[in-house]
Amino acid sequence: MKDYHQKRDFERTPEPKGSGKARENHELLYVIHKHQASHLHYDFRLEWNGVLLSWAIPKGPSLDPSVKRLAMQVEDHPLEYGGFEGVIPEGEYGGGTVMIWDRGTWEPEVADVEAALEKGDLKFTLHGRKLMGSWALVRTRGYGGRGRESWLLIKHRDRYASTADILLEQPRSAVSNKLLAEIARAGGGDVEKAAKGDGEKAARGDGR
Ligand code: MN
Repeated sequence: MKDYHQKRDFERTPEPKGSGKARENHELLYVIHKHQASHLHYDFRLEWNGVLLSWAIPKGPSLDPSVKRLAMQVEDHPLEYGGFEGVIPEGEYGGGTVMIWDRGTWEPEVADVEAALEKGDLKFTLHGRKLMGSWALVRTRGYGGRGRESWLLIKHRDRYASTADILLEQPRSAVSNKLLAEIARAGGGDVEKAAKGDGEKAARGDGR
């Protein structure tokens, strides 16, 4: 988690520093943060080896198996980040409002997760409030010219697949039931900026 710590000033941000301790004999945490920073995006996180492996998904997840969503792998986050919802001060790394959009547990569908990550093809099951069933993260070499960190998040066909737009249908926090603007207001953040993330239809500009 060196990158995580280097990017942040813990005197200024309320984000957790993290203990870096792995937990034993428990289910693996899964979290999606909805993050209105300079741009709205969703941060997809899977617990593995005591950290949260993290991908930033500009357009957020889709339940539609025909839709592949770009997921840029970013620095590992501490497990404690899975409980963070609030305001990162403007001017700090990732400054803006952070919502726990979904949270639950995940299970690998492969025997060897390390090998799957190395290969760039991880199949897994999500047990969230909003996202469930079978999914894949697949590395896409050279997509956007960014090399190893570009992945695609893809829903597998199962009974949880749907063409419904879950981002629009379920915009609230999975833990507080708040919208981004409400989280910003409570945390002394930029309410107007946060509200842009709540009005995602316009912000995404993809006509959906
Ligand atoms: Mn983020």
